[in-house]
Amino acid sequence: MSFETLGLMAELLRAIDSQGYTTPTPIQRQAVPVILEGRDVLAGAQTGTGKTAAFTLPMLQLLSQRPRKGRAPRALVLTPTRELAAQVGESVETYGAHLKLRSAIIFGGVGINPQIEALKRGVDILVATPGRLLDHAGQGTVDLSAIEILVLDEADRMLDMGFIHDIRRVMKLLPNKRQNLLFSATYSNEIKRLADGLLHRPALIEV
Ligand code: AMP
Repeated sequence: MSFETLGLMAELLRAIDSQGYTTPTPIQRQAVPVILEGRDVLAGAQTGTGKTAAFTLPMLQLLSQRPRKGRAPRALVLTPTRELAAQVGESVETYGAHLKLRSAIIFGGVGINPQIEALKRGVDILVATPGRLLDHAGQGTVDLSAIEILVLDEADRMLDMGFIHDIRRVMKLLPNKRQNLLFSATYSNEIKRLADGLLHRPALIEV
């Protein structure tokens, strides 16, 4: 099983090759084709399984195949911590090296002005922690009305950290018609409730 057979485009295969990856991991094998089909996904995956590439690669492909209409972000990845936001943002840049998509990372504890400037310039993919994203939304410096793909990365950790209300607030700012991907290392009742409200006939993936 190779990355080619997953249906990924040449620009992404080149980036994967540059990383030295030869074989997709189990989560990548299962998630990439269904995400490319546009389906919602509920995936149980720990860190270290290759989960970041599993959602980033197909997300990049879908966005690059669709026309950008304005400057507002079209994909939103929510993460529990700034470290994870930075890591995911870096993966987006690495895997998207041969595509003309722009990304920005938004988290708290640092100045807000460079983030505002990046958002003004235009962004396809926004990677953010919930609190700072809501600050931007409150100030009117981010427009979430064009989001086509929502990813909740490490959703269980976001709930553990008390972000459920922030997540629900963010979800209210998104258009109803969108693709939702939920990644979580564990399944609590709280995660199930979140998934039930968020996901439409999801593909279930467990690795
Ligand atoms: P993650 O689970 O997303 O945190 O990824 C764990 C690590 O695996 C990262 O350092 C990735 O660069 C690496 N990785 C992801 N996919 C592959 C792959 N198919 N082959 C080899 N390494 C990979």
